[in-house]
Amino acid sequence: MEKTCPKCNYTRKSTDYAPDYECPSCGVIYSKFVPRDTTKQVTAVPSVSSVPRRKVLIIAIVIIAIAGIPFLVGSKWFRNWKEAVVVTLQRQELEAKRRVAIEQYKVDIEQYKVDIEPIQQFLDL
Ligand SMILES: [Zn+2]
Repeated sequence: MEKTCPKCNYTRKSTDYAPDYECPSCGVIYSKFVPRDTTKQVTAVPSVSSVPRRKVLIIAIVIIAIAGIPFLVGSKWFRNWKEAVVVTLQRQELEAKRRVAIEQYKVDIEQYKVDIEPIQQFLDL
């Protein structure tokens, strides 16, 4: 009996000695062969597959970024940067305290002047 392969369209001849369930040309098992057209329609619709692929890419980038944070935090560059920030903040705080102290000192001097003025006048200096 003549059979045409659903995969390669080879029509088997009586001289072919492959088993009659198998294509002599490409070796496909006729009963197990799934036509390519139907699988294509199921798996490869471009508009559906391209969107998740982009989503997967974004998720991958996010995961890599999150995984990279410990390396970044542990890096010498980050430690130096953090130290510089802390030093700058401490310096600003000290500067602010110093300015307050200077202002307080000026107020104290003014108060002192007011206090000693009557004494100066009394002593006629
Ligand atoms: Zn075949």
